Amino acid sequence: MTSHSMIDEAAGKVPVVAEADLVVVGGGPAGIAAAVSGARNGLSVTLLERYPYLGGLASGGMVLVLDDMCNGNEVTVRGLCSELIERMTGMGLCVTPPEEDWIADEAKFRKWARWGTYNFYGHTKPQPVCYASAFDPDGFKRASNDIVADAGVNLRLHSWFSRTIVEDGVVKGVICESKAGRQAVLGKVVIDATGDLDVAASAGAPHSHGSFIVTTVFRLGGIDAAEAERFEFEEPEAFAKLDREAKRIIGGSWERWWLKTPLPGIIWCNCPHMAGFDGTSVEDLTRADARGRERIAALVEFARAKIPGFANAFVVDVAPQLGVRTSRLLEGEYVMTKEDVASRRHFADSVARGRDYYYPYRTLLPKGVKQLLVAGRHYSSTAAAQRTSREIPPCMAMGEAAGVAAAVALEQGVGVDKVDVATVQRRLRAQGADPGDQPASNATFTIAAE
Ligand SMILES: Cc1cc2nc3c(=O)[nH]c(=O)nc-3n(C[C@H](O)[C@H](O)[C@H](O)COP(=O)(O)OP(=O)(O)OC[C@H]3O[C@@H](n4cnc5c(N)ncnc54)[C@H](O)[C@@H]3O)c2cc1C
Repeated sequence: MTSHSMIDEAAGKVPVVAEADLVVVGGGPAGIAAAVSGARNGLSVTLLERYPYLGGLASGGMVLVLDDMCNGNEVTVRGLCSELIERMTGMGLCVTPPEEDWIADEAKFRKWARWGTYNFYGHTKPQPVCYASAFDPDGFKRASNDIVADAGVNLRLHSWFSRTIVEDGVVKGVICESKAGRQAVLGKVVIDATGDLDVAASAGAPHSHGSFIVTTVFRLGGIDAAEAERFEFEEPEAFAKLDREAKRIIGGSWERWWLKTPLPGIIWCNCPHMAGFDGTSVEDLTRADARGRERIAALVEFARAKIPGFANAFVVDVAPQLGVRTSRLLEGEYVMTKEDVASRRHFADSVARGRDYYYPYRTLLPKGVKQLLVAGRHYSSTAAAQRTSREIPPCMAMGEAAGVAAAVALEQGVGVDKVDVATVQRRLRAQGADPGDQPASNATFTIAAE
């Protein structure tokens, strides 16, 4: 049989295992926020997740810094993201620089650089320390479980979405694969928070297919971080030489290939950078995992032998989820461009903020499919725009906004495409989020109706 062969699949009956006002598919940062926000606004909510834990790339992908949530010293992502930070901090599993450290200063930079809590977009040297949080992946899972349970969300893990149920252009629910066979979950509104746009694509919503580097994030233990930092800042030339070699061996990374975590002696490594893999291809995902592990082994051997502070390094774990930054992207009612992000363009229907940019509600709205919203890294954008506007906190802000929009639409008895955005904005602000309805002084403006 060639890979192009097809078989016919027999149609059959599928049991309905849950019915809710709102069904959220994907329990990553955006999905958690969407589900909690919908439930707190009075909806019955079912949250579906394929893996046995919540958190998406923030836990299973071991992406361990929350950034892009401030504009200088102004905090731009609040609401549920702040609540999660507070909960993890209470567990001793989240570290955030205090406000007095949010400045461009050599000593502060040295203190915080290896936590990854500085403004990567800053052009000054040293880059300013800023509001950002380094956290533990299990802390993220536990805090997410707690926040979801407290909101009364019906959580169904081990549920792998496979098909959207659409009748006359209106989404009615989804079908999941599970150990118990196929299961249907019905809802009045569905939010796609799968990160790969699985639900909207299955429903036939127009989308593009972006691609960017993928990464097998990993953690190392046995690290003497103080010694490694001393070497970096006190022997910069020797450090630069070894660091270049480490980056060559691992196969590409951002400026700092390792960062500290709240657990002593344990660091996380946001590398390698591997290009040419499609995040929705089984074959590519399989190959990328193997290639990443080979490179990690080579780097650890080199680091143990050469880098001060790494003599006793060992691999704690490789993230169970491959780090896919970009795959399918919605082409919704508005498609965010790189220009929009870079120029901090403000939109009258803004419902969420990132670093210093704004997400119009229309970027969460698919074309041609009713009662479906999207939230998270697959939001309606070009690949170039998404590259700098997909961090965890803004994905949570989009999710929080989508949950509120679903609730307001059902209260008003209108479709999610007709919801009164001003009410959504007011509701978000009242619950502690920043919808971006009051733009910062460095925003640029477009006309209200586009
Ligand atoms: C290597 C890497 C490094 C990064 N570094 C940072 C960083 O330092 N700071 C930062 O803030 N952001 C960083 N990001 C970006 C950030 O992690 C993501 O953009 C963010 O997690 C997206 O959130 P999301 O909820 O949209 O999607 P995801 O985190 O991808 O969550 C999607 C959820 O949906 C579930 N799901 C998917 N398909 C299905 C299905 N068919 N059925 C059921 N469930 C499904 C997944 O299991 C997952 O739980 C990084 C990303 C990567 C890959």
